[in-house]
Amino acid sequence: MVQPYRHEPFTDFTVEENKKAMEEALKQVKQELGQEYPLIIGGERIYTDKKIVSTNPAKKDEVVGHVSKADKELAEKALNVANETFEWWRKSTAEMRADILFRAAAIVRRRKHEFNAWIIHEGGKPWKEADADIAEGIDFLEYYGRQMLEIDQGKEINSRPVENNRFTYIPLGTGLVVSPWNFLFAIMCGTAVSPLVTGNTVLLKPASATPVIAYKLMEVLEEAGMPSGVMNYIPGSGSEIGDYLVEHPKLRFVSFTGSRDVGTGIFEKAAKVQPGQKWLKRVVAEMGGKDTIIVDNDSDLELAAESVMNSAFGFQGQKCSACSRVVAHEDVYDDLLERVKELTEEIDVGNTTEKNYFMGPVADQGAYDKITGYIETGKKEGKLVSGGKGDDSKGYFIDPTIFADVDPEATIMQEEIFGPVVAFTKAKDFNEAIEIANNTDYGLTGAVITNNRNHIEIAKEDFHVGNLYFNRGCTAAIVGYHPFGGFNMSGTDSKAGGPDYLYNFLQGKTLSEML
Ligand code: GLU
Repeated sequence: MVQPYRHEPFTDFTVEENKKAMEEALKQVKQELGQEYPLIIGGERIYTDKKIVSTNPAKKDEVVGHVSKADKELAEKALNVANETFEWWRKSTAEMRADILFRAAAIVRRRKHEFNAWIIHEGGKPWKEADADIAEGIDFLEYYGRQMLEIDQGKEINSRPVENNRFTYIPLGTGLVVSPWNFLFAIMCGTAVSPLVTGNTVLLKPASATPVIAYKLMEVLEEAGMPSGVMNYIPGSGSEIGDYLVEHPKLRFVSFTGSRDVGTGIFEKAAKVQPGQKWLKRVVAEMGGKDTIIVDNDSDLELAAESVMNSAFGFQGQKCSACSRVVAHEDVYDDLLERVKELTEEIDVGNTTEKNYFMGPVADQGAYDKITGYIETGKKEGKLVSGGKGDDSKGYFIDPTIFADVDPEATIMQEEIFGPVVAFTKAKDFNEAIEIANNTDYGLTGAVITNNRNHIEIAKEDFHVGNLYFNRGCTAAIVGYHPFGGFNMSGTDSKAGGPDYLYNFLQGKTLSEML
């Protein structure tokens, strides 16, 4: 019997021993930077001439790894291998597949500080955020393994005296997993192993900014016993191999996490039935957010301020769950703003491969330019209260930035910034606050800070987001505790880390036998 699921505890870096261990791991990983990584297709290591160069966003000239880059021909090869492998993998037992995940979880757990150090270098994560990212990856392995064992038992349906009926789930086929750079381990791992544990085969195309950590996961899965060809590692460009595979008649499904633009493009391309295609492709898409914290007049203001600060600036605001809008009741607006400003001005920003700063760099030059562009727009649309500056001379650093008195229709209130920028607006009552919160194209996360039970009930019904939190921040969903996914332009509401998630990669089969 497997033990009941429980989420991986976080590391407390104020404990000297943990801090030391982390510093050691950072030193060790530093010595391993700059290596070459091949593609992995059917277990075969393939080195290509063209490379993706993964760098440390806190130190542009520090190369994390030179990673081989798949072209169309290699993508086609990977698809063929995966389709051939599917023919036997689909018949493998759920127990065998779950055991690979459990063993992989144990391996990562043993090497946790080292994995933390890799994603601090490749993703620019503050230590706490890195540790939470690795813990979440471990959680996905543990949780989906258990979910698969449960699903494998099938579901109760009725039989009759002359007819024996069963209802089971079978996998879909070969899928493309396009993973993001922000949860470079957790989401990459969760989206890659969920189709695998359900009996599908996978083409893993990690984000071009963070391919090294995905290679590390491949090694772990191989060590845990994953057979060749089940998961194939093919970093490459979206416009070259991504689109090619999405449009391929032999691809069965796509699991995408990333921007709204790319996600809607994939949704559209995958919908077109190609000559020779025998199925309707399934698309799981987790896209953006424009997430609001509502602060009521009857509320704990210290809790509200801390929730806003952590949700807005944790991992530099580069979470689709990040708080980018605060709607505060007019009675508490000024006090709240003042307190958030104070907390924000205590934040230190720097190279987290050297020291445990609260905030590190943003992802890359593109992210830096986009975010600082929004800050310029913000200066026209609202009052700059804190931050507003960046420095990209060595890495991509942006100060945590607050704008006040912003119109709910303003650009910085409507468009996803994906950086450390939060905008405040005032509401005259709770109903108006809900209206403003719902006034976006997205519907991912939201939080309400209030002591008013009636307002909690109103929000439960009317605040239209996939993850609604009360009296806490709007980030940091935990696998098995907070199934995660959103409405509207936030995606297909797949609810990662929840009891329904694995069904995204399964289809039901009914068996009826006359007796
Ligand atoms: N699951 C994460 C959270 O709850 C966010 C995931 C994302 O940004 O893609 O904060």
